[in-house]
Amino acid sequence: MPSPPASTYRGRLAPSPTGLLHLGHARTFFAAHARARNAHGTLILRNEDLDQQRSRPEFYDAMIEDLHWLGIDWDEGPDIGGPFAPYSQSQRLASYLVAFNQLRNTGFLYPCTCTRKDLALAASAPHEDTAAPTEDDDPIYPGTCRPVPGSPESSLKNLPSSHSAVNWRFRVPDGEAISFHDQHFGPRQFIAGRDFGDFLVWRRDAVPSYQLACVVDDDAMRITEVVRGADLLKSTARQLLLYHALKLLPPAWYHCPLVTDSAGQRLAKRHDALSIRTLRRQGRTPQELLQSASF
Ligand code: GLU
Repeated sequence: MPSPPASTYRGRLAPSPTGLLHLGHARTFFAAHARARNAHGTLILRNEDLDQQRSRPEFYDAMIEDLHWLGIDWDEGPDIGGPFAPYSQSQRLASYLVAFNQLRNTGFLYPCTCTRKDLALAASAPHEDTAAPTEDDDPIYPGTCRPVPGSPESSLKNLPSSHSAVNWRFRVPDGEAISFHDQHFGPRQFIAGRDFGDFLVWRRDAVPSYQLACVVDDDAMRITEVVRGADLLKSTARQLLLYHALKLLPPAWYHCPLVTDSAGQRLAKRHDALSIRTLRRQGRTPQELLQSASF
C-alpha cells in the first residue's frame, strides 16, 4: 500500500498530572487521537504540570500507563522527545515569560493585588453574579485593581517593576463578542466582560496561568487543531484574546461533549468511581470505553 500523504495536522493531548484520568479524559483523548490519525497527522503529548502543589510524579506515570492501555499512541512527548521538546510545562517557563513581557509591554495587562479571599467576598456580594462557578467559569473579576484609562496607574511606568510580587490580569475588551467556529458544536460566541472577566495571566508565585501557557505552547508546538472538553469553551474565548494580543494565528477548535455520571454530575478527577484505573480493575476493556465514547 502506498504510504498516506504527509499531513500538516498537528494535534495534542494535554493532561495535567494532578489526579487519575477518568472516563471523560478517555473520551476526549480517543477523539483527539482519532482526529489526528484520520488526518494522517502528528499527535503530541504535553504534560501540563504547572500546578506544583497538585502535580505528582505518580500521576504522570499513571497517565502514561493509562493512555497506553487505552491504545492511544503519540509521536512527540515528554517520554519520547521530539522537535519541540521539552514537553513538560514546568520546563518551559522561559517562553511563558517572553509572552508575559510582550503582553505587559503592550499594555494588555495590569497588576492585581486582590487575594483569593477578596475575590470570594466580591463574588458573593449581592450585586455580583452568584451562579455557582464551574472550572471554566471563574466569577467575573469585579475590577478592583483595574486602572481607569488615562489614570496615572494605567501608565506603564507606574507599574511595579517586579512581576513576581503581584498577580497580572488581562484586561478584556468589555462588550466585545468573541466568536469562533467549533468543529463539533458549530459557531460559538462569548461576550467579554459578561461571560468572562479580566483573567489571570501571571500569578504572584511566578507561575503563568493555564491560559497563557496553553496559548504559548500550542503556538510553539505548531498545533493546528485543539481537541478538548466542552468545559473549556470559555477558555477558548479567553485564549483567542491572547492569540490576538500576541499577534499569533489561532488553531482550529474541536470541543468534546462532557461526560456525566448516572446522576448527571460532571466527572472530576477525584471521582474515583469512574477513573480509568477503576474501570480497568472492574474488567472493562478499552473497546467498551471507546464504544461508550462515541459522539
Ligand atoms: N491540562 C488541561 C486539563 O487537564 C487541558 C487543557 C487543554 O486541553 O487545553 O484539563
